[in-house]
Parts: sequence; C-alpha cells; structure tokens
Amino acid sequence: MAADLKESPAGASESTARRAMHEHALEAEELAVTRLLRALELTGGARQRAMERSVAMVEGARARRDERPFLDAFLQEFGLSNQEGIALMCIAEALLRIPDDATADRLIAEQLANGDWSAHAGKSESLFVNASTWGLMLTGGILELDPSIRDDTGGWLRTLTRKAGEPVVRLAVRRAMRIIGGEFVVGRDIEEALARSDRESEVGLCSFDMLGEGARTSADARRYLAAYEHAIDVIGAAARGRAPHAASSISIKLSALEPRYGLLQRERVMRRLVPRLIELTRRAAALGIELTVDAEEADRLDLSLDVMDALCADPQTRDWPGLGLAVQAYGKRALDVIDWVAAQARRHGRRVTTRLVKGAYWDSEIKRAQERGLAAYPVYTRKAATDVSYLACAGRLFAYRDTIRPQFATHNAHSIAAILELAPPGASYEFQRLHGMGRLLYAQARRLVPDFPPVRVYAPVGEHKDLLAYLVRRLLENGANTSFVNRFMDEQVPGTEVVRDPITTLELAGGAAHPRLPLPPALFADRRNSRGVDLGDPLVVGALREALAARREGAQRAAPIIDGVMLRGDGTAVTNPADRRERVGIVRETTAREIAEAFTNAARAQGPWNARGGAARAETLERAADLLEARRGDFQALLTREAGKTLGDALGEVREAVDFCRYYAAQARERFAGPVRMPGPTGECNELSLHGRGVFACVSPWNFPLAIFAGQVTAALAAGNSVVAKPAESTPLVAARCVELLHEAGVPASALQLTPARGREFGAVAFAHEALAGVAMTGSTATAGVMHRALAARTGAILPLIAETGGLNAMLVDSTALPEQVVDDVVSSAFLSAGQRCSALRLLFLQEDIADTVIDMLIGAMDELVIGDPSDFATDVGPVITPQAAAGLIEHVERMRGEARILKVCRLDASLAHGSFVAPHLIELRDAAQLTQEQFGPILHVVRYPAADLDAVLGSIRSSGYGLTLGVQTRLESFWRRIFASTAIGNTYVNRNTLRASRTSARSP
Ligand SMILES: Cc1cc2nc3c(=O)[nH]c(=O)nc-3n(C[C@H](O)[C@H](O)[C@H](O)COP(=O)(O)OP(=O)(O)OC[C@H]3O[C@@H](n4cnc5c(N)ncnc54)[C@H](O)[C@@H]3O)c2cc1C
Repeated sequence: MAADLKESPAGASESTARRAMHEHALEAEELAVTRLLRALELTGGARQRAMERSVAMVEGARARRDERPFLDAFLQEFGLSNQEGIALMCIAEALLRIPDDATADRLIAEQLANGDWSAHAGKSESLFVNASTWGLMLTGGILELDPSIRDDTGGWLRTLTRKAGEPVVRLAVRRAMRIIGGEFVVGRDIEEALARSDRESEVGLCSFDMLGEGARTSADARRYLAAYEHAIDVIGAAARGRAPHAASSISIKLSALEPRYGLLQRERVMRRLVPRLIELTRRAAALGIELTVDAEEADRLDLSLDVMDALCADPQTRDWPGLGLAVQAYGKRALDVIDWVAAQARRHGRRVTTRLVKGAYWDSEIKRAQERGLAAYPVYTRKAATDVSYLACAGRLFAYRDTIRPQFATHNAHSIAAILELAPPGASYEFQRLHGMGRLLYAQARRLVPDFPPVRVYAPVGEHKDLLAYLVRRLLENGANTSFVNRFMDEQVPGTEVVRDPITTLELAGGAAHPRLPLPPALFADRRNSRGVDLGDPLVVGALREALAARREGAQRAAPIIDGVMLRGDGTAVTNPADRRERVGIVRETTAREIAEAFTNAARAQGPWNARGGAARAETLERAADLLEARRGDFQALLTREAGKTLGDALGEVREAVDFCRYYAAQARERFAGPVRMPGPTGECNELSLHGRGVFACVSPWNFPLAIFAGQVTAALAAGNSVVAKPAESTPLVAARCVELLHEAGVPASALQLTPARGREFGAVAFAHEALAGVAMTGSTATAGVMHRALAARTGAILPLIAETGGLNAMLVDSTALPEQVVDDVVSSAFLSAGQRCSALRLLFLQEDIADTVIDMLIGAMDELVIGDPSDFATDVGPVITPQAAAGLIEHVERMRGEARILKVCRLDASLAHGSFVAPHLIELRDAAQLTQEQFGPILHVVRYPAADLDAVLGSIRSSGYGLTLGVQTRLESFWRRIFASTAIGNTYVNRNTLRASRTSARSP
C-alpha cells in the first residue's frame, strides 16, 4: 500500500519543522512513540506480507550459507558476547597503528592469552582460530597445518603467545587484521576502489567514503578536502554521463572538513566550512554525481541543517538533483528533519536525496545524555522503536517523493520488506548496504522480488590504519545482540524469531522507554542527577545567551554575613579578570573581631542544628540544590564575570555544586538518621550514632568559587556541624550569593557564617579560636602546610584538617593509544579553565615512537583554540585569575626559554590587553625533573620516553611528591595496571581526560 502524508505538516515551513525538532529533541519516549505509530500507515495485510517476505529472505539466505562472506561467519562467532570477540576487537582497534614491535607483541599476548579459543574451533568453516585460517594468516595461503595444531588450537596458541615477541605471531595477527579489514574496504585509494567497482558487479554502484578520524587540525581538514575533491573528479569521470542516481557517488563527513564542528562554533563553521562545501557540491554537480552528507552525533544535527540550508541556497547547483543528507531514524527528531528537508527543497525549487539510516552512535548518545544531565535521551531506548521510526520515516519520505528521492540504508530483512510495502507504485528509490555486509540478504531479496530496486554499496576507501575506527564501529554494531545482522545467520534462532514485527513489539511494551535504562536525571541510585543544558539545540543556546546577557550588568556586593545579616561598610572593587576595567562589585572584608564573633555565634547554633537530625538536614540541602538549579543563570553569569569562567566551565560548576548538595543530603540521610543497633552479647544494647563535631572553618579556592565552596560547606553542614566559611580573596561575590541561597533553603542563619578576609588575617583568629572543631581547605600544598602547623600548635583536642591540594599532574601515553583521542583529552585536560584546575594536566609523557605524531597534532589542535572573552560562547580559554598569576606564569615561560624548547605559543589578540590572559604554551623538557613547581595556568610540558624506561618515568612521578590526578592512555590493561600499582595518586583516569566526563567522539556511518 502506498504511504500517505499523515500527521505531517504538509507544506510546513522550515521554521515550523525546526521548532518541532526543538520540541521533540528530548521528548518523553511514550509520546514520541505515539507520534510514530500515528504517522505510520501500514495496514494489517501489508504487515503480514512484510513478515512473510522477510522470513522468506532469511530462510533463503540461510540456505545459501556457503556463499556467506568470511565476515558474516566471523562476526557471528566472535560477537561482543564472548571474551574472544572482545579480544579480537581490541586487537583490531589498535594493532595496525602501533609502530614498535615490542608494544605490538604485548598487545597480542595480552589479548590472545586469556581467551578460550578452542571453544570456537570447528564451529564454523572459516574462522579465525581454525587451522586453515591460521594457515592463511601465517603464510598467506590455505594450508593444512599439523593435526596437533588443529586438535588443540587453544593450547598451540597459548604456547605461541607465551613466547610473545615471536615475529611469526605478530605477522600472523597483523595479517589477520588486514584480512578482516580488507572485507570492509573496497580499495586503498579511490582509483583502486573504482577499478574494483568496474570489475565486480557486487560493488558496481557505490557511494564512496574516505576513511579516517574526524579532523583535529586545519591541516587534517585540508587533507580531507583534497581527498574529497580528487575522489569527486575520479568518480565523476567514471560516471560517463549517467544520471546521478545511476552512477556511483560520494559520501562526506562535515567533521572531517572542520576541526571545530560544533554548534558553539557556528559562526566559524559557517565562515570556514560552507565555502569549502559549496566548492565540493559545485564540483559534484558539474560532474553529475550525488554527494551525501553523512549524519553524525545528535548535537551536531541542527548545525548540519544550517550548513545544508546554505548549500541548498546556491543557485549554481539548483538543477542538480544529487545533493543529499543522511537522517538517523533512532533520533526522536527524525520525522521533523524529513519535513525540514522537504520544505527546504521546495523553497529552493530543487530535488534532493535523503538516505535513511537507523544510526551508528546509539551507545555514545546514551552516554552523552547521561553525562550532560539532559532531561531525556535524544534517541529511542528500544530497538523496536528505532525500527518503527525507520518505517514511519520511510513513509514520510515517500510522501515527499515530488522533491525527495529516498535511499534506504539497512541490513534488516523486515525493514526491507516493509519498505517494499510502503513504496508507492512507480516511486523512484534505492536500497543501500555497507560493503562487507548484507550481500546475501540483498541477493535473496532480488531473487524473491521482481523489479527489486537498485542497491548501492557504501564503500569505504583508505589505508588499513585509517580503517580502525570504522572497523570497530562495525564490530560493535554487528556484535550487539539486538543487531539484526548478529542473529540473521544464527541457525539456533528460528527465522520467525529473527524477524519480528516491531510495531507489535512496541505496542506490547506500551511505547514505554526501556525499563533497564534509567533516564539521565535518575542515573544515580541515591540522588537526582544535576540538570544540564542541551548545547546542541540552537533555541536552548539562544535563550541561554539572552538570559546571560541580561545578567551581565549590575554591581554585586559581598561582606561578612554574621547571623544572616550582611554587614555594612565600605569595600574594595572586584573586577572582571577578562577586562579589569569592568567593576563586577565590591567586597567589604571581615575584621578580626567579626571573625571571632562568627565562630562564637556558630558554636551556639551547632547543637540545635545537629539535633535536627540527618533527615531534616538532608531536606534543607535538597532545597538548596533545587534553588541553585532555579538560579543557574544568575550563578553562571557571576562565575563568568567574577572568575573568568567560560560557558562550559560555569555550567559544569553549577552542576557540581548542585550535585554536592544532593550527595551530602543523601549521606546525611543514610549515616546521620539516628542510632544504629550494633550486634553484641545478649543483654547488652550497643548503638552507634554519628554527630557533628562543632564549628568547621571552610577555606575555599577561587578556581571553583561555587562548587568547592558549596561542597565544603554542605559536607560540614550535612554532618551536623556549623560553619564559618572564608571564600577566596578573588571570588567573594559568588560565595556571598551561595550563603544567601543556603540560608533561604533553611540553613539557620547562625549555623553558616560568611567571613570574606585575607587568608593570613582569617587564620590568625580562626586557628586560635576555642570553638574551632575542624578545618576543610582546598588550595596549595604550602598553605595546607601552614594550616597543619597552626592546628598542631594548639593545645586541647586534636582537630581534623581535610586538605585537598594541587600537584604536578601527569599523563602517560604509550604507542597503543589513539592519537586523536590523546589530543582531545590532552587539550581539555591542560587548557580548559585556562589550566586553573587542581586536576589539570601539567606534564605529558609520550612514548618516543609516537611522540612526533602526537605533538604535531597537538600543535594543530592548539591553533584551533579560541582564547578570549569567556562571556562569548565560542571561547575555549578565558583569562587567569589575577595579573599576579599571569605574571608568574610568564616568568616561568621566560625561564623555560633558556632551559627547554618552546614548541607552541598560541596567539593572543590585542583586544585582550585589559584582561589577565596567558596564551596556551607547549614546552618540551629534556627531563621531567626540570619542572619542580606546579604552574597553575595553560602551560603544558611534554617529555618523550623510551618504552623500556617506564620505570624511570614512574619514579619521577613518585618523587614529585604530589598525587592528585594521573592520566593513562593505552589499550594495554597491563600498562595501566602497572602504573596504577606503582603510583599513589588520588584519581587515575584511563583513556579519558583528567577533568570530568570524557568527550566521546565517533564517526559515521
Ligand atoms: C549505506 C549506509 C550509510 C550509512 N550512513 C550512516 C550515517 O550517515 N550516519 C549514521 O549514523 N549511520 C550510518 N549508517 C550506519 C547505520 O546507522 C547502521 O548500519 C544501521 O543502524 C544498521 O541498521 P540495520 O537496519 O542494518 O540494523 P538493525 O540491527 O535492524 O538496527 C540497528 C539499529 O538499532 C539501534 N538500536 C539497537 N538497540 C537499540 C535500543 N535499545 N534502542 C533504540 N535503538 C536501538 C542501533 O543503534 C542501530 O541504529 C549507514 C549505513 C549504511 C548501510
């Protein structure tokens, strides 16, 4: 039956479609599914026919299992559900890029040694572990190996790998990876790929894709651009005048052409990327081939539509029907995107193509939404919902067939059969599959269905080393047990089970989200996750921009808050670190007498506060968390003006403060609720109850003026203590607003006192005060030492000092690490927050074999950083906190000029002269010992090390005497475990940045 335009805003304008996208981006799943089911028109008869036909396709394909490509068999045996499959995936991801043999051997030994390889022997005709396959790998030809090997493959393999370093094993596994990889690429370059396409009818109609990671540098982007230009020329020449839909085409990724491809960099993207793309589309149009823009992460979707808008508006290509966009059906906005594409095409009077995919980034979308604390997921959480969305989108595409030529990319028999039902008679469309996948299925479909539409093959082109990320995505996709491909050839699963009508499945589930996947706000069992912002939604970003601009004016005041009253008196100016001419407010400091009074009053308040009990205190802190979320904009604006925080930093800081309030509330409830009965002898009653100690002095730093301030204070309050808080000298305004908020939430006025003061003056009174019961501080090791000595000099009870200090944080990178990931994580760890986090990276140790590659990429990525006014959303690196801090950092750089090599200094714009800006620096040291002191700013030091000298590197980290964070980038578990065991560091992070939730990056399809 033919699809109708149901539930779609027929003729809807682009702006209506964009608004709908905004409304549906994070819609509740039940509502989104209801929309889908309403949009999808597939009669009972059509559903039945789709089921019958898809079962027939599966069974027919199974009957021809001998023709099954190597890869299908491989993936079926080695999915992600067994150790061996995961081992192979780990090897596949890393092996081919490792330049040194010793590390390659270690990776092979580590991954192969643990698996139960014999369990797979003989299960399939063409498997990795089968003797014949090993023969293929070892010798390049099919060989009969010794029966002892065939009978005990596992034992043989173990013996081999025990002798890791044997060139023969390395060679064999490298060759195996090439064989696996070779199944997915059609050629190492476009000429080779086209020659193959000419020869083999299987790949006669292709959309070629240039493999590689996304660009990190302008040089990467230029390289990709040149590769695309060349490919278009070669593909165009081979098209020999055929109609665009009948000739091979090209697929491009916008993230390959623009290193900063994100919404916050929109202005730069439109300025740099669009002209390049217009050139590419004109080239493709002139040669008459299709060019499709791949779909990437959900938060890049709106930006990609802005880019498409610019491409569609180009009058020079208006008559060319080859411009295309991929749309991901797993996204809740998919139907709206299709409406937008149709509206866009109509407005510009052009025909376009749309490739419908289900989507390749599901796992990372889920993770990203959780990390960002979004209200819901941008993707469906049930596989059946994605499948139904695919069909609803297919129907919508057919309904727009006057302007859109649909392309259906899937390897799922049911999706194919249902699309055949949805297709109106005479509609022009095609199917698409990935090279190396779906061959048997489409061959069978063609046998069963007369006039089956053309099938285009998405055909990756590139060197083996560029294949890795793509290969891993394929292994992940196909290894998942929800994947159709994973179950398709598994004889254990009957055809009728492999093929299920997703509409029925979804209706049975009532459209509800998957019960095992909590929504991002419900991520933590004991508390609500802090609310984040969807920085991929232009309406959200626009509203945020307006809200912050409205709060940019207005002077603030900080002064002692004693018993809830802010004291009067003259103060000194607090100025904006980004522009010292701007006065943000004034601070009136606390006198010695007032500090003493604050302690005395807090001591009186502590008993009643403690007596309220954990549950009541928890409620107060939870109210504070809600108030913080409600006033997020006020705090963000003030954090930017007073502390020089960029958008991301300020947002992260408010979330962290909220999270502290809720975390300590949960602790108060759990541990301070009341006495707990202890086990003991009969007749005795033993109870354990926890209570506050008295008055805590909380001394917080300027680099997290809200989060650490709130963290220290709420921890002490949760435990039943009262608090005298001393904010950092540079950031009293944020602290004053936070104390007011905590009072408003219900913390008794006297239980929390604020005393802005110089550290020394505060210490002189506070550490001698009889009411003092403990100290929590975050700051330098030197200051912690002073406090420690002051407390030790007291008579009477011994007081606790909770000190969090900074340090020379290091990151170790071995040659198995992925350079792009290393560079992303190093840039964020070293330069975000202008390097002013206690956890920031100062010392990067690179294994010498990959050092040049990583350093080159790092320098290119530093060129892409935006340094400037933190109130501008595009800014990555803002100012340092004070002119004195800036002077100290510059003095260090001057010293390094004589002692080390300055590899890179970023450019500072002259307009920044009124602020305390320090350009990000990359400095190469001969020896880690050259860095004796922490430099609290955007200065990164790098040291090369030979793999054999790891012990010396670890020794130098230990002897630095610090230990807050340590990063490790490796694919070798033994490497990070060894580092973990031989250093005593607070937080060791593996394969991520050292600051906060890792930035995941992936590429499509
Ligand atoms: C020609 C071609 C071009 C492509 N281009 C792109 C592209 O530009 N961008 C892109 O992202 N991908 C692209 N892909 C990859 C594509 O998204 C995957 O290959 C596709 O998802 C596999 O779908 P299927 O119908 O073959 O498999 P199926 O196994 O039927 O479906 C897999 C889909 O279900 C989703 N899924 C699994 N579990 C769940 C769950 N619990 N809840 C919700 N959804 C779930 C998966 O994420 C995946 O999207 C392309 C694929 C092809 C063939």
